[in-house]
Amino acid sequence: MNGAGMAMGRELSLGRPFGIPLTVNSWLAILVGIVFGFSLLTREPLEGAWILVLFVSILLHEFAHALTAKAAGDTVQKVTLHLLGGVTYRTGRGGPRWAWRITAAGPLVNVVLAGGAWLGMYYGRYELPWWGLVLLAQAFWANVILAAFNLLPIYPMDGGQLARMSLSKRVGAGAGARIGLGLSFLTLLAVGVWFIASGNFNIIAIVILVQLFMLNVMEMRQVGSPSMEETRGALGRWWRDRHRMAAERRREKERRRERERERAERAARKADGLEPSPFRRNARTTQERDAEVLRDGGRLLEKAVERGLGALRPEERRLLILHRRLLEIRIDTAEGGEPDGEDLRLLELHVRLGSSGEIH
Ligand SMILES: [Zn+2]
Repeated sequence: MNGAGMAMGRELSLGRPFGIPLTVNSWLAILVGIVFGFSLLTREPLEGAWILVLFVSILLHEFAHALTAKAAGDTVQKVTLHLLGGVTYRTGRGGPRWAWRITAAGPLVNVVLAGGAWLGMYYGRYELPWWGLVLLAQAFWANVILAAFNLLPIYPMDGGQLARMSLSKRVGAGAGARIGLGLSFLTLLAVGVWFIASGNFNIIAIVILVQLFMLNVMEMRQVGSPSMEETRGALGRWWRDRHRMAAERRREKERRRERERERAERAARKADGLEPSPFRRNARTTQERDAEVLRDGGRLLEKAVERGLGALRPEERRLLILHRRLLEIRIDTAEGGEPDGEDLRLLELHVRLGSSGEIH
């Protein structure tokens, strides 16, 4: 679990693995002690080992949340294990994408551990001692159950959080929370019916279900109850608009990638000691170049009129072409359609010289 606490008893500190304070509820410590201690007394330690395996699996689940949160830049206050699971207390800074990853990391670790235990059993079935296989089987089932249970879309378990996040992304935060809660109640109901139908009256399971039901009722007071109308409307809207919204999300993703690329390019240019904006830099060099052409071109024009085009070197002729083109542009784009008298005079000289026809 991730975020919702159920406090009772005292908290015992177990140090700071990865710099994150870890505490264990005293009742959980007593329960683990009794179950495992009893198995030691009866000289069948493997019969009680499952509770240690479950304990470690829950611990790894919580640390998957906590370490992903740290990677997102969150502050993780502590990880606590209690009778009904664990809680990671964090103060979030990352956006919705990180929230999704932080939540999914817990069950994902259980899936990976279950897979690892299964592989260990399969490939070690001839080599491993029998007690090793029993421990692996316990690890496999503990993690299958943890993953499956946590992924049920029941608030506030990981599956419930993931369902809410996914729905909110599609139908908006308010409707997403209410519809997610409706789904949560339905799932709780289904699990309850399944328990009764299977004749399983496990006291721990009943306590957990009742606790979850109470948490759901409390949450419903916060976000409001989901109405059939709102659900139908929001889901219907989403279904009708899903292609458009998917395209919108794709475009947004592309825009974000483009912005990131530009930012990286700018940073790279800065690191090279160049101007931060290549656009401004080009504009300025163009202006400088224009001023140069106007200054030198005017001088060359007088020289050409005086002594003829033949007196010019090839690069001087090229500059003269640029000069004429620039004058034409300046006259053409003059403010208020009133070109500068000097520009007009110079262009007339150009025309008389026939410069554009002669020099290449
Ligand atoms: Zn979790």
